[in-house]
Amino acid sequence: MRAITVTPVRRMSCSRQASSGGDAWMVLAELARGAVELFASTSADRIRECAYDDCTRLYLDTSLGGTRRWCDMRLCGNRAKVAEFRARHNASRAGAGTRTGTGTSARRARG
Ligand SMILES: [Zn+2]
Repeated sequence: MRAITVTPVRRMSCSRQASSGGDAWMVLAELARGAVELFASTSADRIRECAYDDCTRLYLDTSLGGTRRWCDMRLCGNRAKVAEFRARHNASRAGAGTRTGTGTSARRARG
């Protein structure tokens, strides 16, 4: 099990300057305010859900083409690409097994 490290909460004041201290409700209120501003902004159509099946994160797609698929390439992107590689690899191995079987039956038919 991984240890969880708790770091001091930084509170954003209304002037958007970070300050130490404050309570969790202030932080949550500031997060809610930021979310409302983001959803109301012109960037709202760039809010996406991560394409990795086991991830529920949302992210703001700031890529030039708007084609970003994962919340983080190092985590979900890598996991998805490994899963795609394994699926292709297993499919090709299954296909190779079928071809071997066909070759065997063809040899039997000839012999
Ligand atoms: Zn993700």
